[in-house]
Amino acid sequence: MTIESLIQNLKNKDVKQADLDLINRAYLTAEQAHRGQKRFSGEDYIIHPLKTADFLTRLNFIDAPTIAAALLHDTVEDTGLPLEKIEKDFGPEVAFLINGITKLGKIKYQGVERRVENLRKMFLAMAEDIRVILIKLADRHHNMQTLDFVRKEKQKRIALETLEIYTPIAYRLGMGELKGQLEDLAFPYAYPDEHRWLMTNIKEKYQQRQEYLKKVVPMLERELKKENINAEGINLRAKHYYSLYQKLLRHEMNLEKIYDLAALRIVVSNIDQCYGALGVVHKLWRPLPDKIKDYIALPKPNGYQSIHTTVFCLDDKITEFQIRTKQMHEIAENGIAAHWAYSEAGKPDEGARLDEKKFGWVQQLREWQAEVSGTEEFLESLKIDFFKNRIFVLTPKGDVIDLPQDATPVDFAYHIHSEIGEQCAGAKVNGKIVPLNTPLQNSDIVEILIQKNKKPSEGWLDFIKTTYAKNKVKKHFQKKLHSFADRTVKNQTPQKAEIRIVSSDRVGLLKDISSILSSQNINIITLNTDSTDNPYPDIFITISAKDKLNINRLVLKLKEVKGVAEVGCKLL
Ligand code: MN
Repeated sequence: MTIESLIQNLKNKDVKQADLDLINRAYLTAEQAHRGQKRFSGEDYIIHPLKTADFLTRLNFIDAPTIAAALLHDTVEDTGLPLEKIEKDFGPEVAFLINGITKLGKIKYQGVERRVENLRKMFLAMAEDIRVILIKLADRHHNMQTLDFVRKEKQKRIALETLEIYTPIAYRLGMGELKGQLEDLAFPYAYPDEHRWLMTNIKEKYQQRQEYLKKVVPMLERELKKENINAEGINLRAKHYYSLYQKLLRHEMNLEKIYDLAALRIVVSNIDQCYGALGVVHKLWRPLPDKIKDYIALPKPNGYQSIHTTVFCLDDKITEFQIRTKQMHEIAENGIAAHWAYSEAGKPDEGARLDEKKFGWVQQLREWQAEVSGTEEFLESLKIDFFKNRIFVLTPKGDVIDLPQDATPVDFAYHIHSEIGEQCAGAKVNGKIVPLNTPLQNSDIVEILIQKNKKPSEGWLDFIKTTYAKNKVKKHFQKKLHSFADRTVKNQTPQKAEIRIVSSDRVGLLKDISSILSSQNINIITLNTDSTDNPYPDIFITISAKDKLNINRLVLKLKEVKGVAEVGCKLL
């Protein structure tokens, strides 16, 4: 694989010279950045981005920014090439795609089943643009081909991640062929025993079946020719091993019950010939009733079109045939990538084209929501536009929490548990303290600092976004009003103060501070820090205490905390 052969392939697909120049420049930058790096296979690293770009080209996915981004996809994460530099040299679109890929690279599969669906959702939502996912899938395809060179312990994790995250996404995007390939690449690493079983028990029968079909092909060819049907190809479609294994599980491991083990696929030039070919097949062999499916007249909601029929074929063996045109075939194999390629052709205006493309995807995905085969979650995760106003953040343990856009740490805290919401005293986002009204971003890791006996602040109502948190806070204040009314004697105004702490940042500092506050029965109203990058950040805490003495005692205690250099206090 070389850049010259990639460029030649793109040229053969009529890619414009200006686009070829961009792609070539992307290659030169990537080659320079990765120079000296090796893959585990011992190959020069640049082979990997080249294969990634080549894969997309072979799918006819020849959008120039996508190919350029595929070539550069590992530069930001693995070579430290600044994204700003990519934006300057290759424009905002390429930079946007690479940023998307780099972000997705940070999502790590934890291997806990209940998180998988969330991860998939997050994956789709964070990609923002379907092209990012396509590059990521191409990247994974090459990584799976070279998995043998990866450390043993890592192989299984990567294979499971492929089966649980990547192949369902490929399927959703209608990329049947890629899904099958990824599954078969992952199968032996993810489930070695099952794979071995299949290979020893089934492989031979499977191959016999394929040999059998090879005898059928010439008979069919002869008859089609007689009817003047020009078959562009009669292909054996052997079921992929992993999906065969899945199907065997549903059929008591009995191979005889699986009719589409190997099917014959007839590709012809137009729709008339599809029906013509169906007639030829039925003339040769008797069809099984109820097994004729006309997905040309009635396409599947994802756009899949074909005629399927199952017949008592040569020697009365039950055999499936699939008949389709070339274009139908490409869409069945490559799904969204093929749709893209077709919508690409013949659009005169460059600017308008991009928007229409984007719109087209959303439209397509909407249509797919209606697809029959799947659970509710499955359908849910198709709605990329649904995710437009959702964000996905992580707990420190890696659980994915789904919140509305601009949700704050308080919303997050209430989402985890109402008690955590009520006792929420501060928050760390990606390891740094932030004000409680900070809008959270996709993939932020959020940690809530709680203080026992802390009560919600009324001020929270100004910024919290979720209805759940709002109702909880409101309810709290309604309760409080009632209890005030009940109390007749007690009338003590609490003393408020602002405490400023200068300290070196260290793990556990805030926890120590907040436990002192609770031991002194002092409530935190707000907690802020001045500069997130300062190694000696100032921490500002507004508190509400019983009286002045209470505050003085607190200041003394705080001065004893490890790392604290200075404590200031201002009564409010
Ligand atoms: Mn990569």
